[in-house]
Amino acid sequence: MSLNRLFWLISIALMLLFSALAVRIVVVEWGTYKRGAYSMDAMRTVQLGLVALEKVSFERGPSNACLGSGVSDPTASLVRLQRARSESDVALTGLLADLRQTPDLSSQTQRIVERTEQARRVLLSARQAVDRLCAMPLARRTSQEVTVAVDGMLAVVPLMVATLGDLSVIVTQADPELLDGLTGVRVAASLREYAGQVGSRFTAPLVAQRPLTQNEVIEIGKLYGRIEQLRTLMDTRLRGAQNNVQFKEALLVVDRMYFGDAIPFLDRLRQVGLNSGNYGMTTGALAEYYVPRMTPLLRLRDILMIEVTALAEARHRQAGKLLLGVLTMVALSFLFLFVLMYVVRKRVVGPVLFATKLVKQLGDGNLDVKIPPPRHPDEIGAMLQALKVLKHRSIERISLAREREELIAQLQTSSNTDFLTGALNRRAFFSYSEQQLAVAQRYQRNLTLILLDIDYFKQINDAHGHIAGDEVLRGVVKLVGRLLRKVDIFARYGGEEFILLLPEADLEQGIAVAEKLRLALAAQTVDLGDGQLIQVTASFGVAALAGDESLDHLISLADEALYDAKHRGRNCVVRATRMGASTFAPVSD
Ligand code: GH3
Ligand code: MG
Ligand code: MG
Repeated sequence: MSLNRLFWLISIALMLLFSALAVRIVVVEWGTYKRGAYSMDAMRTVQLGLVALEKVSFERGPSNACLGSGVSDPTASLVRLQRARSESDVALTGLLADLRQTPDLSSQTQRIVERTEQARRVLLSARQAVDRLCAMPLARRTSQEVTVAVDGMLAVVPLMVATLGDLSVIVTQADPELLDGLTGVRVAASLREYAGQVGSRFTAPLVAQRPLTQNEVIEIGKLYGRIEQLRTLMDTRLRGAQNNVQFKEALLVVDRMYFGDAIPFLDRLRQVGLNSGNYGMTTGALAEYYVPRMTPLLRLRDILMIEVTALAEARHRQAGKLLLGVLTMVALSFLFLFVLMYVVRKRVVGPVLFATKLVKQLGDGNLDVKIPPPRHPDEIGAMLQALKVLKHRSIERISLAREREELIAQLQTSSNTDFLTGALNRRAFFSYSEQQLAVAQRYQRNLTLILLDIDYFKQINDAHGHIAGDEVLRGVVKLVGRLLRKVDIFARYGGEEFILLLPEADLEQGIAVAEKLRLALAAQTVDLGDGQLIQVTASFGVAALAGDESLDHLISLADEALYDAKHRGRNCVVRATRMGASTFAPVSD
């Protein structure tokens, strides 16, 4: 796999992995944040629920007062009752409206709505019962009827308490941390509720001014038990745990007013109820004394509610900050990852790929490739520098090799060439001619050898000087070279003597060539350079190949013919015959 591909694969894999992680973290934090908002909404509903419960409980005070008062004296208590009822109605309507406006009405919320509506229905029918009794003269109201009416009002309570429980569950589901605070709120609210119920239990006996029935004694005992239980719960769980000064003060007020005044007051009433039943007070007087002493319980509840609401808000804010922090971290991490990938691509992968391309081009022998100067003082820069050196060394090596080849070629030429005339030398002649001889003998082809010797050359030297003699030698080579075929081998044999080998030429053709050369030589004048022109002639001995003879033998035959040519007066061509030197026949004069 190519480095580039690997880089992209790893980058994409990293990105995917990181994105998955980031999404997971953000989703978790977003969920916490959303639940925080949701828990705050639910807290508001809980508060509305608490108020509704409180109002419904509070309504029992004037309601009981009304049940215990005569028709002639209803005005004040009736006004209070109407006000209390309308407050209950407002609270219940508010709660229901709040529940209904939940955007996605879950089955849980649906159940709460239904139960609250049921509570309202129960409340309305209880009110009708109360109104019916209140419309009757006091004397005609039987104790049993009053008990039924009071119980009717009390029947609303379990429904409202259940509603409150369900609402608390919603809050703690959204944020379990709020459980303790909410429990405190519910303890205080329940305390207020049971305190109210104890008061209500005295309504019927007070209306009839009779002793408590056994059932009422039991009920009141149960309520006392619950109140005691809640007080213990509050003492153990809340008194120590709360640092809130307001709460501590409120608790002291509760201790003083409710447990210090109201409870002993109820104890006295219960005592009367167990004996004579002559309480010496109306239900209105009971409400007037008892109801204000329960108020500190509500204050306690409200303080706890404020506290838990503040906690919910703080946690929501913190979740918001956390979410923001996580989002910032994720964004920064992404940025870092991008920068990292960019740097690795730009500083490592890209340059390595580029350098690889350069190395490949250099390897292919492309030395024109341009190697850029290093951009950074790093390993890649060092590599580019090294490549530059490599390129220069390669160029040097190649030019050296070329020089050497040229030198070898030059040497070869000079070793084969006669320095003075530029014709082949004797060594080269033998080297090429042996080859031609072998070919001719192998394929039985014609081959003729000519020896050429300049006549009276010594005299030229003597008369015109050695340099002039050299010039004559060069002039002869030039002329002969011009007249020969390409395949013919022409060399300086020594001194003023030259040798020619004519492949594919028989004796007659060889003699014709020799004759052509002789005539051409005799016809030309050599310019000695100083304005003097001289004429030279040459003698030729010609021998043709016959059978498996050696080159030396062929030369000696030609030499004999040449000797004969000289002997015959020079400037002539003599053919070698194989009948002996004396029988050589001159071709021309
Ligand atoms: P013949 O007609 O019998 O061939 O007589 P010749 O004078 O040509 O022959 P000879 O062998 O007597 O003399 C050859 C001369 O050629 C002798 C030598 O000094 C001269 N010679 C040999 N090599 C060179 C050379 O390279 N340059 C010059 N200028 N002269 C040379
Ligand atoms: Mg000579
Ligand atoms: Mg000679």
